[in-house]
Amino acid sequence: MKVAVVGAGIAGGYLARLLEGMGISPDVYDCGEHDTSCGYRSCGWGAPDATSSFLNRAGLDLDNYLLEPMVNMNFDGLVARTPLYTLDKPRLIRDLRSGLRITQCRFTDREAEEYDMVVDATGIARALLPPCSSDLTLPTLQYRLTVKPRGSRVLEPGVYGNQIPGLGYIWVFPLGRNQYHIGAGGLAFDRYGEILDQFFDNLSGRYSVTRHCSCSGEVRVASPHYSQPLVSVRKMEDGTMQQIIGVGESIGTVSPFTGEGIIYSLECAKLLAGSWLDEKTYVSHVLSRFGWMKKERETLDYLLSQGRETGPRLRDRWRFYRNARRSGIRLPMLEAFKRMGSLSRWVEG
Ligand SMILES: Cc1cc2nc3c(=O)[nH]c(=O)nc-3n(C[C@H](O)[C@H](O)[C@H](O)COP(=O)(O)OP(=O)(O)OC[C@H]3O[C@@H](n4cnc5c(N)ncnc54)[C@H](O)[C@@H]3O)c2cc1C
Repeated sequence: MKVAVVGAGIAGGYLARLLEGMGISPDVYDCGEHDTSCGYRSCGWGAPDATSSFLNRAGLDLDNYLLEPMVNMNFDGLVARTPLYTLDKPRLIRDLRSGLRITQCRFTDREAEEYDMVVDATGIARALLPPCSSDLTLPTLQYRLTVKPRGSRVLEPGVYGNQIPGLGYIWVFPLGRNQYHIGAGGLAFDRYGEILDQFFDNLSGRYSVTRHCSCSGEVRVASPHYSQPLVSVRKMEDGTMQQIIGVGESIGTVSPFTGEGIIYSLECAKLLAGSWLDEKTYVSHVLSRFGWMKKERETLDYLLSQGRETGPRLRDRWRFYRNARRSGIRLPMLEAFKRMGSLSRWVEG
């Protein structure tokens, strides 16, 4: 059976390595078309320490990619402990790719003709599967900056929902040596540039801020349930059927509340490798394992419609609390319930 993995980001690179370990050598394709100065898809590079067990399986050590711990993180004024770090994601992707047979090109129907099975690991592009049953994508803008303290207090990692007029947040992720990713993303608002300019202006009294580069992007926050079909078949020119299977962000394995997708792309690729050639089991594992993403998506849909008048319901606040717990963020329950209020401050104005 000839297999192509299309997209060698986190999901595709990891899957291809796991398959190699199982004695299956897929052909890997990546077009590498990213309008970013790091040369990779726009991303904050934040991930929890639980990423380690996935990397170990592929013979990689998380310690080699850690940039800065985010042990204490500011959530709209409340500092909570987290298991998050920033990772050197470009280096991780390069290491995932090393030893794989990779063709650098945009995969088209011409290349597809050669394969019995094609894995769509193309992230937000979802280049091969049919459109999602109900897609939802969230636009983002991010800067890489040097932020030097004028006094002794370095800028702490943080997530700020209450500075956003829509449903979303600003993130401040340290990369080491006074460098940061600071970005904004959200639904139902579009003035990212203005909002970040204001944020940098507010910092400028206490810090000297130098911008290095910026990138805009999109995250699929639809959830796997609303990104179906996860698998499809296509008739090739010679009449044979070809299977297309999605993995990672192409099928929405991203937390709809936070846009966190690195660890879930790894997990999704592991599920696919673990149920290789049994697509029914794979689909059912993805839908059940990431069932909580469906609920988060439904909260977003609610807030984008009726929520404008009524604000988050008890179940929405509960889902937000569960999200924080799942990510290992130690927000006390009452505070987490309040944060949800501030994340959706937009309903007030
Ligand atoms: C601004 C921003 C900040 C983010 N911050 C975080 C964060 O801090 N932490 C976190 O966990 N997640 C974050 N995410 C989400 C995270 O980046 C993604 O969910 C994750 O990288 C998805 O991995 P993937 O492998 O599925 O897709 P991708 O990483 O997007 O990889 C897809 C690959 O497919 C290739 N490709 C696309 N089309 C084709 C084609 N036709 N032919 C060949 N190759 C193709 C691309 O070149 C790319 O390499 C962020 C996203 C954005 C936009």
